Amino acid sequence: MTRVAMHGAAGRMGLSITRILAETPDAKLVSAIDRGANVGRDVGLLAGIAANSVIVRDDVEAALEGVDVVIDFTHPTASVPLFEQLAARGVATVIGTTGFEAEGRAAIERLATKVPVVFAPNYSQGVTMLFALASRAASLLHRGFDAEIVEMHHRFKVDSPSGTAVKLAEVVAKARDLDYEKTKVHGRSGQVGARTDDEIGVLALRGGDIVGEHTLFLAGMGERIEISHRATDRQIFARGAVRAATWVVGKSPGIYDMFDVMGLERP
Ligand code: NAD
Repeated sequence: MTRVAMHGAAGRMGLSITRILAETPDAKLVSAIDRGANVGRDVGLLAGIAANSVIVRDDVEAALEGVDVVIDFTHPTASVPLFEQLAARGVATVIGTTGFEAEGRAAIERLATKVPVVFAPNYSQGVTMLFALASRAASLLHRGFDAEIVEMHHRFKVDSPSGTAVKLAEVVAKARDLDYEKTKVHGRSGQVGARTDDEIGVLALRGGDIVGEHTLFLAGMGERIEISHRATDRQIFARGAVRAATWVVGKSPGIYDMFDVMGLERP
């Protein structure tokens, strides 16, 4: 049984992970860390499930007692001081927080000299598999199969194309020995001419409440392959982070990602 502490327990991801852990047989939430008004509350009730007697605490040292792994989904300003404590105590770490600058990345590297760390920008198991399949298909179906990517997200998303679509295009470019910056075509309009062999088109659609959809088309003459991932719920990140937490305990110190967790070759 993997004993998990959640850092950022009262946040959106923390509560989602609390719900997933409640239905995971080989892992158990034993400690919940956050700050502010939720300190002192039962995290099960906060997560909308049955009370689990895990009380949100802001005393990190006490909260790390008897813990195998910490899952961190907070903010870089909260994560970096935590990493020092985890290194000192030798606790395996799953980092979901994004937006680290150079100093934060250096802190992660220091932590990883002492303990095993999973650090992934996207914990979705499906998206990780999408990258792995896309890489293989794009390299094996190279000549004569034009690569195009379409992504769809909700109407409120402000950046475009999505980070996942860009990463998918980079994976395709790498699999084909191409430079993504030189081959990318983000949308087409006007007299752009016929497509060239190497270009990788990326088109972003926006509307409604779509959580996130990505499709890679490999379009040949007379046939085409489509590899799609469709997210319907943000709990996919929580499920992947919990899988990472049960996997990382007992590994050698170092930085791992979801390709390692899922036993996939990194594309
Ligand atoms: P959120 O704002 O809902 O939750 C963050 C929580 O961290 C809050 O409860 C907040 O009180 C807590 N926190 C902040 N500073 C703290 C401190 N000093 N001590 C203790 N607790 C502190 O945010 P969220 O949507 O849960 O996302 C959290 C992070 O996870 C963000 O960086 C987000 O980008 C990232 N994220 C990553 C993935 C992924 O797959 N890697 C997926 C979703 C979100």
